[in-house]
Amino acid sequence: MSSSKNFLIKVQNKHSHESEFLQAVEEFLDSVAPFVLVSDKYKSRNLLEKIVEPERVIIFRVPWLDDNGDEKINIGYRVQFNSAIGPYKGGLRFHPSVNLSILKFLGFEQIFKNALTGLPMGGGKGGSDFDPKGKSDNEVMRFCQSFMLELSKHIGSNTDVPAGDIGVGAREIGYMFGQYKRIKNNFTGVLTGKSFNWGGSLIRPEATGYGLVYFLNEMLSFHDISMKNKKIAISGSGNVAQFACQKAIELGAKVVSLSDSSGYIYDPLGIDDAKLKYVIDLKTIRRGRISEYADQFNCEFFEGTPWGLDCDIALPCATQNELNEHDAKKLIQNNCIAIAEGANMPCTNEAISIFNSNKILFAPGKASNAGGVAVSGLEMSQNSLRMNWSKEEVDTKLSNIMKNIHRLCVEHGKSNDYVDYVKGANIAGFIKVADAMIDQGAV
Ligand code: NDP
Repeated sequence: MSSSKNFLIKVQNKHSHESEFLQAVEEFLDSVAPFVLVSDKYKSRNLLEKIVEPERVIIFRVPWLDDNGDEKINIGYRVQFNSAIGPYKGGLRFHPSVNLSILKFLGFEQIFKNALTGLPMGGGKGGSDFDPKGKSDNEVMRFCQSFMLELSKHIGSNTDVPAGDIGVGAREIGYMFGQYKRIKNNFTGVLTGKSFNWGGSLIRPEATGYGLVYFLNEMLSFHDISMKNKKIAISGSGNVAQFACQKAIELGAKVVSLSDSSGYIYDPLGIDDAKLKYVIDLKTIRRGRISEYADQFNCEFFEGTPWGLDCDIALPCATQNELNEHDAKKLIQNNCIAIAEGANMPCTNEAISIFNSNKILFAPGKASNAGGVAVSGLEMSQNSLRMNWSKEEVDTKLSNIMKNIHRLCVEHGKSNDYVDYVKGANIAGFIKVADAMIDQGAV
């Protein structure tokens, strides 16, 4: 048995109950372990053993009062995974499925994603099993304040700078920022994803979705394919899905689906700007369900995921493991030519193997969804400079960062006639972090 397999087994034995974390480590090791094992610089330093263990994990109780005055208890987490190239950076997720395994997988991915952006950000992730769905604004505020009461002891603008993720948008960031400021008496860039009029960056709400489509466009152009008139299936209807849809329409593609956890809509005429505005209002203001789109625009709503649809391109933008090997086979049968991950780890490792063995263009989230954290990094820079850059300035920087990530993936992932973007992203991210870890000694 190869020593990379042995190493994976060691990690599996140590963390046997953390299935999502193990899935992320396996995907990473598949490409990085063979590279490390033949490298004089990296192989003798136990870097892999070190890189898969978080520097620190914080778990805490979050008590809060609901509108009836009843006390509720949730669990809060922050995984401070790796600070070799900068302060820990990564989102907070509020969703009932949140547990340590999910946050460790997200934190682990974040290390290499952040490295790929070229900005000085380490990797971290956090959140809670709190479900904002169906809660009043006051309940969400009381939860956020209690969560920040503890989290504020562990973060800071030069230590750890959280952002949003599933269930954490502008509303939650606002409540948490207000509480941090009150506790510390310090107005500082401790969170990103802030509203523009009190320290946020223009384009941050759009950044992950726009960045995804910039990466997709770069990947297609590199293979002499145009985005114009391509039929795109998108899953999710939250932050990432909305702005991926907007940019894809702008670049001439036809988006035929959006989804949420109850199912997906199929709109054969394509989603246009007016329909998308309806979705953004529905999801961010009314907090409604995507099925309402079908009633509003007279199209069909189905249970499940949209991967059986006839499409040229698939953009999974909802959640982890939402696209499995059966879905991958259906997409290929339907002549899909490219898949780019907007969500984190939406495709299972089995699905990715199928894409790779069929030489389908496949962009892993740590490369293709890095636009969000990239603009978060730009928000940190603007906060430090006490300045705001224009929309055009931020958008140009975002687009250049995505082009550069694509270039790194090609540099480290191209062999013969195929670019293995998973391998390229993993190796490029690893080199940057590993070199910093070596420079900083045995810490
Ligand atoms: P939102 O909370 O804004 O939206 C999430 C969307 O995914 C909703 O439509 C939600 O549906 C759907 N969803 C969530 N859980 C499930 C599930 N178990 N099954 C099916 N659908 C589900 O989150 P974001 O758009 O911010 O995040 C989406 C993904 O993108 C996540 O994987 C996140 O980690 C990743 N990401 C986000 C970044 C960002 O900047 N926001 C940056 C990089 C990655 P419902 O409303 O029914 O729950």
